[in-house]
Amino acid sequence: MTQAAVAILERLVAFDTVSATSNLDLVGWVADYLDGLGIESVLTRNAEGTKANLYATVGPGGRGGIILSGHTDVVPVAGQAWTSDPFRLDARGERLYGRGTADMKGFIALVLARVPNALASPLQIPLHIALSYDEEVGCLGVPALIRSLPEGAARPRLAIIGEPTGMQVANAHKGIHFLRTRLTGHEAHSSMPERGVNAIAAAAEIIVEIGRLAAQCRAAAPADSRFDPPYTSFNIGRIAGGAAVNIIARDCAFDWEFRPVPGEDAAALRRRIDDFIMADLLPRLRAGHPDAAVETETMALVPPLVPDPGSPAETLARDLTGANEATTIAFATEAGLFQAAGIPAVICGPGSIEVAHQPDEFITRDQLAAGGAFLDRLLAWARRGGNERPNPDG
Ligand SMILES: [Zn+2]
Repeated sequence: MTQAAVAILERLVAFDTVSATSNLDLVGWVADYLDGLGIESVLTRNAEGTKANLYATVGPGGRGGIILSGHTDVVPVAGQAWTSDPFRLDARGERLYGRGTADMKGFIALVLARVPNALASPLQIPLHIALSYDEEVGCLGVPALIRSLPEGAARPRLAIIGEPTGMQVANAHKGIHFLRTRLTGHEAHSSMPERGVNAIAAAAEIIVEIGRLAAQCRAAAPADSRFDPPYTSFNIGRIAGGAAVNIIARDCAFDWEFRPVPGEDAAALRRRIDDFIMADLLPRLRAGHPDAAVETETMALVPPLVPDPGSPAETLARDLTGANEATTIAFATEAGLFQAAGIPAVICGPGSIEVAHQPDEFITRDQLAAGGAFLDRLLAWARRGGNERPNPDG
């Protein structure tokens, strides 16, 4: 079975699905593969038609089932020192190298490789394969897939997100709010500051205010937090503005983010900055020139995964792995989006996040075997109708 998964992984890695490029070749290949097994795929595309999510059900239709979720896009390889072609699976002993092997084409390959087996004897509970695009640039693809899910009895009962956790069960992560603030001032000769409005200096004021807010969040971190760091963190990641040292800068823009811990009132944090801009900063800028403006755009918003001990997703994943407890992960995933749509979700998948996004990303054969065994137990459970608890040793 691992052999079949490795062959599929080789195909998946060969598709360059860096988020900036189309994933349609990969999705088309998967749809053909599933079609060859008699399974229909439903695609939801982006507005330009250049990318698609794929959703396919194995087993009885019309019943809620288990979503197995993976993203098809990968992070760029540009500027990274790879010792082999990142888009060609390179097997060296125990390790299989290639972009996306851990994050997260390895999991997708394992799921696809099990479909023939899943069809061999009937499932009582369906498995839904959910493949998304643009996860790595802010989970932009999967909301359309989630919106297309059926309501009522056919609504999937839970989702397992196969991000690399080394097959640990994770039930919590922070969210991400990715924002872009653009400032427009008024240009003038630098020798006459009263005639201009400096957009860079105004941006600096907002950045200082964000720093104050970050310090408050840091100070408010609960002592018993499972997160590292235990508070909602902020970052200013990029800034650009101005034209020359002797011109008062008309334009400035900066990218910033914050990563709210579950339970944080993220809207209130955002409002704090918006209020500073609207009530304090902008009136002062407008006094300098009436065209002065500040706009903040939400580029991506990933909700946190709120721990929900005893949820059907956590219970099933823990039963399948034999894990005594669920862990917390430092990275954000699509799990929070499924949870926000009323579908309990956990993260559990093969491979290590330590090698994800790195040159010479790899997955071990051992992790593929562990992920495969997890799926085999899931299949056995789905055949029985899910009534008995799965045996993690069987
Ligand atoms: Zn990932």
